[in-house]
Amino acid sequence: MLNTRSDLAVVRVRHPLKFRLLQVSRVEPLTPHLVRVTLTGDDLRDFTSASFDDHIKVFFPAPGEDKPVLPVAGPDGPVFAEGQPRPVARDYTPRRFDRETGELVIDFVIHAVGPASTWAAEARVGQYLGVGGPRGSFVIPQGYDWHLLIGDETALPAISRRLEELPAGTRVAAVLEVRDPSARIEFNTKADLYAVWCYQNEQAGQAESSANESGLLKAVRETFLPEGDGYVWAAGESATIRAVRQYLTAECGIEKSRIRAASYWKRGAAAVHESIDD
Ligand SMILES: Cc1cc2nc3c(=O)[nH]c(=O)nc-3n(C[C@H](O)[C@H](O)[C@H](O)COP(=O)(O)OP(=O)(O)OC[C@H]3O[C@@H](n4cnc5c(N)ncnc54)[C@H](O)[C@@H]3O)c2cc1C
Repeated sequence: MLNTRSDLAVVRVRHPLKFRLLQVSRVEPLTPHLVRVTLTGDDLRDFTSASFDDHIKVFFPAPGEDKPVLPVAGPDGPVFAEGQPRPVARDYTPRRFDRETGELVIDFVIHAVGPASTWAAEARVGQYLGVGGPRGSFVIPQGYDWHLLIGDETALPAISRRLEELPAGTRVAAVLEVRDPSARIEFNTKADLYAVWCYQNEQAGQAESSANESGLLKAVRETFLPEGDGYVWAAGESATIRAVRQYLTAECGIEKSRIRAASYWKRGAAAVHESIDD
C-alpha cells in the first residue's frame, strides 16, 4: 500500500507571471551538442525558480531583429500585441539562477532543425532573448528513500540541477539516453548516484526488431528499483517517455502519483510540451 507520509507530498507553487528582456553574457559549449548560455539583466531581480522541474518560455528575436517582441502579463496570461506575428517561443529549463550575480543559465541542445536550436548554435555575447515565467513550480520532496531520474539530452539540464540539489546520502539512479558518448556530461552531486548511459546512435544500427524499443526503455527495464518510498521523474521524446511510464506503472506497479513524466519534444512536431498523466 502507498505510504502517505506528509513530508513526501509534492507541493505546487504559483509565481506571478512576468516577461523579462535579457542579454547573453556568456556562451560555453558543454559538449559538441549542448551549449550553455548565461543571461543577465535588471529584469532578473525578482526571478525565482523553486524546482528543477520548472520551465521558462524563451522568446527569440524575429529574423533581422535585435530583440524579441514580448507579450505583457494580463490577468489571464500573456497578452500579445494585436496585428503582429507572435514571437517564436520554446520551453527551457532554468538550469541555474544565481541571485548574487544575477545570472540565469540555460543549456540548449543543438539538434538538426528548429529556431531555438539554430539560435543557440550561433549564440553570441550581447544578443537579446526574452524569458517568461516560470509560472509555477512542481516541488518534489528530497526525502524519498530513492529517486529515479530518466531522460534524454533535453532533460540533462533538469537532471543535472536535481543532482546538484539533492543532499548527501540520497539514493538516486539516473538513466540517460544521448546520441553518442560525446554527448555525455559530468554531474556534480553529493548524492549517492548510480548513472547509466545509453546511446541512440548505437540503437539505430541494431536490427529493427530490437530498435522498436528505445534504448532508454531497455535501460530502465534493467534498472533495479529498491524497496521503500521512491519517486520517478522522466522527460524526453514523447513516445519514448510514454512507453517508459507505461512500463513503470503497468509492469513495475509504481503508483502514478509517484511518477512525474513529461514530453519535452515530439518527433516531427515543433514546440511540444505535454504532461503525461492519463
Ligand atoms: C518543460 C520543458 C523543459 C525543457 N528544457 C530543455 C532544456 O533545458 N534544454 C533543451 O535543449 N531543451 C529543453 N526542452 C526541449 C525543447 O523545448 C525542444 O527540444 C524544442 O522543440 C526545441 O525547439 P527548436 O526550435 O529547436 O525545435 P522545434 O521547432 O520545436 O522542432 C523542429 C523539429 O525538431 C525536432 N526536435 C525538437 N527538439 C529536438 C531534440 N532535442 N532532438 C531532436 N529533434 C528535436 C522536432 O520534432 C521537430 O521535428 C524542454 C522542453 C520542455 C517542455
